[in-house]
Amino acid sequence: MAFVYLGIGSNLGDRKANLQEAVKMLNAYESISVAEVSSFYETEPVGYEKQGMFLNGALSCKATLDPYEFLKFTQEIENNLKRVKTIRWGPRTIDVDILLYGNLELTDIPRLIIPHPRMTEREFVLLPLAEIAPEVIHPPTGKSIKQLLKELKTKET
Ligand code: AMP
Repeated sequence: MAFVYLGIGSNLGDRKANLQEAVKMLNAYESISVAEVSSFYETEPVGYEKQGMFLNGALSCKATLDPYEFLKFTQEIENNLKRVKTIRWGPRTIDVDILLYGNLELTDIPRLIIPHPRMTEREFVLLPLAEIAPEVIHPPTGKSIKQLLKELKTKET
């Protein structure tokens, strides 16, 4: 059994309903039990900027899936919610990222990288994650999520 943190985001259609649907689909799966869901935050698009605002959240869950099985399931959710993926970092109905998988560090480029390689640079990931997991340690840096968010905010100002 692993404790897994996920990031979810949407900027197409009914964004809140899309995020709620993703949480529901995760929890409906027998191998996953959702523990906590953060608030949803409205954020500016990063990367490709000619698109609508995102709604982002984070959640924690207990799972009896290995990382690759977990990725497969999150991709099924993305496909089921008809993610439109035409441009990298472009508009999407739903995006589900594996942020942390227990204390695991996995570098299988580009298929699966855990912790998520860009999580420490993204406020839209760290802000919701800090709400539900402030003291959880990001294994590669040894820093807490709260600390990483503080450092990112300092860097930005
Ligand atoms: P993106 O569209 O930017 O969310 O990227 C999706 C791709 O990233 C997928 O093809 C995954 O195989 C790959 N990927 C690598 N690491 C992760 C991760 N930690 N969580 C989700 N997808 C990942």
